[in-house]
Formats: sequence, C-alpha cells, structure tokens
Amino acid sequence: MLLRLEDDTNDLTALSYLHEPAVLHNLRVRFLEPNHIYTYCGIVLVAINPYDQLHIYGEEVIRAYSGQNMGDMDPHIFAVAEEAYKQMGRDERNQSIIVSGESGAGKTVSAKYAMRFFATVGGSANDTNVEEKVLASSPIMEAIGNAKTTRNDNSSRFGKYIQIGFSRHFHIIGANMRTYLLEKSRVVFQAEDERNYHIFYQLCASSSLPEFRELGLRIKESSQSSIFKVVASILHLGNIEICAERDGESCHVSRDDLHLQHFSRLLGVELQQMEHWLCHRKLVTSSETYLKNMSKKQAENARNALAKHIYARMFDWIVEHINKVLQSSSKQHSFIGVLDIYGLHFLLVPKGTDQNWAQKLYQKHSSSAHFQKPRMSNTSFIINHFADKVLRNTRRSSRVNVRPAKPTPRPANKEHRKTVGHQFRSSLHMLMETLNATTPHYVRCIKPNDYKGRSRRAVQQLRACGVLETIRISAAGYPSRWTYPDFFSRYRVLLKKSDMTLADKKLEPDMFQFGKTKIFFRAGQVAYLEKLRADRF
Ligand code: ADP
Ligand code: MG
Repeated sequence: MLLRLEDDTNDLTALSYLHEPAVLHNLRVRFLEPNHIYTYCGIVLVAINPYDQLHIYGEEVIRAYSGQNMGDMDPHIFAVAEEAYKQMGRDERNQSIIVSGESGAGKTVSAKYAMRFFATVGGSANDTNVEEKVLASSPIMEAIGNAKTTRNDNSSRFGKYIQIGFSRHFHIIGANMRTYLLEKSRVVFQAEDERNYHIFYQLCASSSLPEFRELGLRIKESSQSSIFKVVASILHLGNIEICAERDGESCHVSRDDLHLQHFSRLLGVELQQMEHWLCHRKLVTSSETYLKNMSKKQAENARNALAKHIYARMFDWIVEHINKVLQSSSKQHSFIGVLDIYGLHFLLVPKGTDQNWAQKLYQKHSSSAHFQKPRMSNTSFIINHFADKVLRNTRRSSRVNVRPAKPTPRPANKEHRKTVGHQFRSSLHMLMETLNATTPHYVRCIKPNDYKGRSRRAVQQLRACGVLETIRISAAGYPSRWTYPDFFSRYRVLLKKSDMTLADKKLEPDMFQFGKTKIFFRAGQVAYLEKLRADRF
C-alpha cells in the first residue's frame, strides 16, 4: 500500500516505488486535486490537459514564479520557463523548451504560456513592444496553420520553433519563427468531421462585414487584402469544374466557369492560359517537348496540387513577413527557443543524471541510425525515431504531381524528389543542430484517460513520450530525497540515538548518500524503510 505522503510527491522520480502503477496512481491523485495538473519527473514537467480554464496563469502567478527556484515552487510551466530564463543568464547559454505529446494533449497551449512568461518577465526595455508582437503573431499563425480535427478543435497542422531573442540585460529584443511540415493535403482534402484551415471559414464568415479590414492584425491592410485574395483564389480553384471528354483521356474547363474567372482575376493570371493548362501538361524529354492531354482525374489532381502549392507559398510568405516584424533591431545576446511540433515521434531523452550511463549508451548504440549524440553534450542523447520516417513520407508525398499551371518545364521527377527530401533533411538537421547547442527543458503533455473516451490511455502516452523511461533511468541514481529534519522525524525509531547509523544496519552503504541538506536514497529504499518502520509499531 502506498502512503499518503508518497502519493503526493510532486516529482515522480522521488516515488519510493518506481513502477508504472505507482506513477499512474500518483498522477491521478494529483490530478484529482484542483489545479494540480503539473508534476515533475526529474527534469521533465508532465502536464495533464485539464480541458478546463484554470486560474493559474495570471500575471500575479508569473510574478510569483519569477526569480524562484524550481524546487521551492509547485510544478508549473512557469517554473520551467523561469528555469530556462535563469539558466540563460547564469550559464550564458541559449535554452530550449521542448514540448511534446500527442495531438490535443496541450502542446500549443503550454508553448503559449511559456511565451507569455517570457513576454512578462523579459518585457522590452524600449517601446518596440516586441513581446506583444510575439504574442499577437499566434492568432495569425493559428488562422493559417490550425484546423479542427477529431482530436483537437484547434489543432496545429505544422510544427514550430520560436526563438525569442534577448539583450545583454535579458530584455526581449526580437523573435524568429521556423516552421516545419505544414500539412498541405488539408487544403484539398479533409477527413470526415474535420475541417480545412480556419482562415477559409474566417474569410467566408466575415466577407460581408464592414469591420472586416479592422481585425487588428499586424499585417498591413494592403498585405491583408493580398492574403485574402490568395485564400479566396484557392477556394475558387477548388470549385473549378473539370469536365471529362468522351474519350476518357482528355478534359476541358468551361471559359464561362465563374470560379475560373474569379481565380484568374484574383491572381492576375490570363484566363485562357489557365483554362488551357488546367487540362494539359507539357512533357519535356531530352530530345523534344510536347503537349499532352490530361484525363479529368489527372487534371483534378493537378488542380489540387496547385492549390496546395499556392497555400504553402502563402504560409511561408506570412511566416517571413511576421519574422520581419519580429526582427530584432539591436544585437541579440542569447535566445530561448520553444519547440512545438505536432504528431511527431520526436523523442528527445533528457540529460541523464549519470554520465557513465550515457557514455555506455553512446558506445552501444553509436552505429544505430536512430541514435544521435548531441555534439555539445556528454550527458544527453537523442533517439531519433522520426527523421527517417519523415524522409520516407517526404519521398512518398513528393510523388504527388506538383505541376506548375504555367508552361514552365517541370523538373524531372527524380531531381524533384531529391530536392524536397533535401529540404526536409536540412531543415530538420538545422533544428537538431540548434537544439543540441542549447540547454534543453522538457514538457510532456498528456491527455487524461477519460476525455471523450477517445484518448489513448495515459499509460501508453507516458510510455511513448519517455516519462516512464526517465523514471527507469532515475532508478539507477538516487531518486528519493529527504531533508534531514524530515528524515529524522519520520525514521527516528530506526536510528541509533545521536548519530545517523541505522540501528540494525540494514541499508547497504551503496543504497544512500548524504547530501548537504538532504539524504538521497536509491529507488525502493524509502519503501524498505517504511516497511521497517511499520514493523516497529
Ligand atoms: P496540441 O497542441 O497538443 O494538439 P492544444 O495545446 O491545442 O493541443 O490543446 C488542445 C485543447 O486542450 C486546447 O484548445 C484547450 O482547450 C485544452 N487545453 C490544453 N492545455 C490546457 C491548459 N493548460 N488549460 C486549459 N485547457 C487546456
Ligand atoms: Mg498544437
């Protein structure tokens, strides 16, 4: 039986019984208490999605966490953010907060709260209000990159790494965002009960509103109107009707098609050209160039590929635009990056407490493709489940024909594939490089079991995201700790009078260590002491 005292530890690695049931029990006990959605697991913050507005994110809470030590406060996303902020100053090193978890688990919300913390404690010294701009960029990004899915009504369909730049005095001076893996297919296809990107609906819903132009975005009115033209053109493009010819091998679009007319007008392309190239393609061989008809199906695929392509270019353009606005005007001294990548099995295992243990792993797995040793660290490593997978997916998706609507020669398929693959690899590689050169902080978001009965069981999520692994790793160290007064008051009956020797000398010397203010025990030892203590009464 677990003790009440043990039940409510706010650090799982301090549990006296280090096994899954104890971990789950502890998370559950904490979660049932109001506001206790956060628990540490060593240096990892486990966050259980409350699906409820909690009053634990106000400015007064940020102020309360600011400047405090992690161990002195209740676990919180603000404590992790404060730790990153503090270490940036103390160690003169860039920091990263890596947020992971399955869709709907709360990654984006956590990332936003971390950003809010930095915006509050690192408010810019001058009147650039860059911290406000950083926060204001998120509704824009959500409009173009988020959509309703069956798992999350506001699911981010792209990954992002936002770097907040700080001055020498640790005021925010700018920010930069890198985005990854935008789900382009959503532009032309949505599964049942799912939706396209919010912006399409927002545009339709607000098309008749006079205040439409005054949404308070940060994007200039002229640019806003360009963006809405592009979005509207994509809607029209998707509605262009492609009619099959009787031969089954060719097709046509009516010049009277209103959607074709709107599309051409909005994007400023020639209607005849558009009509022609929607139904034909140009093939380039080494010796000649010729025109080929497309079947209705082929033409529809090409039309959809064009829609995806236009959307992705617009997305990148907006990111670029936002980055320009967020650009720092003065010299950046250091940065804190917040990584929020959706759906990827991006398993970064935290710094082990035991350097030897990590060294053993390097030796054992250095030849594995899934294993990577960070250049900058000897005590951490990366299990790279996903780069390989992503590359494989990339190759597959690049087979979708990206046919330009205009008669520009298309790159040979093979070359094209290489380019896309290369782009992915280098952007992921750059992300890895950046992460490896920072001090990482980890947040694992978990969906509670009972949410709509749809979530994967919490235990599977804990396994998948490495929390249970972290606990096993901790078992190799000294995960349980007591302050001397607490230890004395609880285990007095087991101790010889006046000194620290256990009366029966039943603990092996290797099983505990004396620290400055605390005593550390190997996993299971506190449970053992508890048993001895119970036997005494
Ligand atoms: P993810 O990015 O992991 O897919 P989100 O961060 O979008 O998930 O969270 C999904 C939903 O869960 C949010 O829209 C919000 O309603 C709820 N949620 C997540 N974290 C919290 C939190 N800390 N407090 C309250 N609600 C939350
Ligand atoms: Mg998200």
